[in-house]
Amino acid sequence: MKFTLTGTGSVKGCPVYGCDCPACIKAIMDPFLRRSPASALLESDGELILIDAGLTDIQERFPAGTLKQVLLTHYHMDHIAGLFSLRWGSAFKISVMGPDTSDAPVELMKHPGILDFSQTTTQFSPFSINGVKVTPVPLSHSRPTFGYVFERNGRTLAYLTDTLGLPDETLTFLTSNPLNVMIIDCSYAPDMSEPPGSHNNLKDVMELHQKIEPSRTILTHIGHELDNWMNANPLPKDIEAGHDGLVITL
Ligand SMILES: [Zn+2]
Ligand SMILES: [Zn+2]
Ligand SMILES: [Zn+2]
Repeated sequence: MKFTLTGTGSVKGCPVYGCDCPACIKAIMDPFLRRSPASALLESDGELILIDAGLTDIQERFPAGTLKQVLLTHYHMDHIAGLFSLRWGSAFKISVMGPDTSDAPVELMKHPGILDFSQTTTQFSPFSINGVKVTPVPLSHSRPTFGYVFERNGRTLAYLTDTLGLPDETLTFLTSNPLNVMIIDCSYAPDMSEPPGSHNNLKDVMELHQKIEPSRTILTHIGHELDNWMNANPLPKDIEAGHDGLVITL
């Protein structure tokens, strides 16, 4: 399976509108440093699954007929904004799976257009898409949120955003099987967090990395403050920053 990070930004993205910090100025000058809303694309058996839909140019990226499945972690706007225009397409349905839709915006549920929300995901109830086993795992966020563990041919990748720490049952699940790649929310530099806290900072991620011991930990949902911190400090061993367009092949 091939996994591409289509977005690695925090809710504010990078550059942050109107911000003149060094990270945002660099991102204005160099498109490679820009961060779109956190999202990813899983390719398996020639089919595409978009994980989260905060990108507002989904229609341009995926011509009609190429995208049949979207998997959502939760219903915060930076993870679903792209669905609002996509739904007015014509001709074919796109399946959108995620946590219970009682948490989804009323506007989207009332007028879903071509989006089919009939299937929801349930924690620790694995299902299979395009030959990949997918297990939803609960995360610790300000609203109901699932991470997803993808498994194929004995290779495993966990996509864990948005979260602050992990619930005990998720930690137990992740530590009981070898994990090749962990992609995880790291919105903040080590010394900062937002009150009341619903995203990891780098210290939180380091603790989880030590407990779970994946072969590779990749940061996503990165805020401009962390980009500024990374410009001055190296990341710990075995932890790397994701960037938009990063491809992981397993
Ligand atoms: Zn988010
Ligand atoms: Zn900035
Ligand atoms: Zn969120």
